[in-house]
Amino acid sequence: MSSTLDILKGVFGYPAFRGQQAAVIAHLASGNDCLVLMPTGGGKSLCYQIPALLRKGVAIIVSPLISLMQNQVVALGEVGVHAAALNSSLTYEEAQLVERKLLAGEYDLLYVAPERLLTERFLDLIARMPLALFAIDEAHCVSQWGHDFRPEYCQLNVLHARFPDVPRIALTATADAVTQNEIIERLVLHKARIFISSFDRPNIHYQIIDKINSRQQLLSFIQTEHSKDAGIVYCLSRKKVEDITAWLNAHGIVALPYHAGMSPHQRSQNQDTFLREESIVMVATIAFGMGIDKPDVRFVAHLDMPKSIEGYYQETGRAGRDGQKANAWMAYGLNDVIQQRRMIEESEAQKQFKQAAARKLEAMLAFCETTTCRRAYLLDYFGEKVAFKACGNCDVCLSPPDTWDATIAVQKALSCVYRTGQQFGAGHLIDVLRGNDTARVKQWHHQQVSTFGIGRDLSVKAWRTIFRQLIALGLLTTDSEGYGSLCLTDASRTVLKGQQKIFLRQLTERSPRLRKKQLN
Ligand code: ADP
Ligand code: ZN
Repeated sequence: MSSTLDILKGVFGYPAFRGQQAAVIAHLASGNDCLVLMPTGGGKSLCYQIPALLRKGVAIIVSPLISLMQNQVVALGEVGVHAAALNSSLTYEEAQLVERKLLAGEYDLLYVAPERLLTERFLDLIARMPLALFAIDEAHCVSQWGHDFRPEYCQLNVLHARFPDVPRIALTATADAVTQNEIIERLVLHKARIFISSFDRPNIHYQIIDKINSRQQLLSFIQTEHSKDAGIVYCLSRKKVEDITAWLNAHGIVALPYHAGMSPHQRSQNQDTFLREESIVMVATIAFGMGIDKPDVRFVAHLDMPKSIEGYYQETGRAGRDGQKANAWMAYGLNDVIQQRRMIEESEAQKQFKQAAARKLEAMLAFCETTTCRRAYLLDYFGEKVAFKACGNCDVCLSPPDTWDATIAVQKALSCVYRTGQQFGAGHLIDVLRGNDTARVKQWHHQQVSTFGIGRDLSVKAWRTIFRQLIALGLLTTDSEGYGSLCLTDASRTVLKGQQKIFLRQLTERSPRLRKKQLN
């Protein structure tokens, strides 16, 4: 029998195992249960694919997503491994054929949807043949608290009951302890060894810049760092996806759009082109990405802030799956903060859900504004004990942001909010602070408030950065009617009374091209 490493090299063509793959494979191949927590892109599939080849009989892989099954079967076929999928996309005849081949012992792996696996007929069928192992992919689907809850997953304990001697492996990219315990309980994995991988993606460089002219900033970023690379650009709206695609194409960068408003045919065509060709930029809403396995995506850019750290981590995690250097780049500004707050306030969801969404957003904002290592922040958020303070591969570590004593400016901004009645957005407030005689200023007689013109010393950009940070810090909040008016908070009062010093980040413009322009 060939060794594990021989299979890795000879069949899959990889020189070495990653992370805990070797340990998981050895454990499972010798007949033991395990639970594997590994981030997306960590290489979970090999953890059961290689034991499937090492052990006698067919390996049964339970998977909730038909498209993922199909991709895996095709990929295995390409390296000469016999695999098939049984799910609702097959005709009756096709399914019959798969079952016949299965009985004849022609498969090393069989992917099957949980509802199919759970039928009496299928369970009887596999009871008649040697089984290498059971793999339960996306095992967090047992969790009723998660977004991916699948009731059938809760019945998968039948595997243990009916086939106590067949080793089982459960796999997920969801790390928290609650989900972990639910998986163990529901799948009866009390004896399973747990393999937890770090969620760190050391090859990804994190960078967040102040949004000034985001499409120009994006273009400079791609031109200077990724002119021949594949990448994904995430935008919030369909319209923006279209606009940015056109803008990039007009500047010589081959970009394709992807959003839910396009026809399924167009979407899958663009996805195929992206997967097949080397240097396409996919401009997409978050509808794009689930189950995409393109190892050489060199950058993921966000033109709008995601609404949670989980989303950000998942989306940026699509970069650099091959382990080579990759960039997670984001342009972030005042409007992102206001827009996301407004979306939560305007949603029809229950209060409890809104509060949870607001907390997630706060964590995301704090991540954007952090003056300490971004990687350490991310890992800490996912509950990992982080051994380092500075990773050396994020913008904060590489060029620590300058902070300044902004107490006076902040007091000016807050008192301007107060003097104008807490019913205006940042644009108007900045006009008042800078003493602009706009029609709106005249209409409200704001030339007469005491804060008119007291902020002439700072540019519009500087003021926008200040307002953004004030919202992120919880010193200002948007009104609940959703007009984007800024209001004071309890925390602002101590600052207004001059009892607290406030340090803010300097306006940073890391895009080299823009910086040059500014200096001229
Ligand atoms: P997950 O299921 O954890 O998201 P996959 O199993 O799809 O991850 O693997 C992610 C990518 O990494 C795939 O392109 C896979 O071929 C590649 N990969 C996995 N293990 C290795 C390895 N040991 N060496 C090189 N590439 C690997
Ligand atoms: Zn860092």
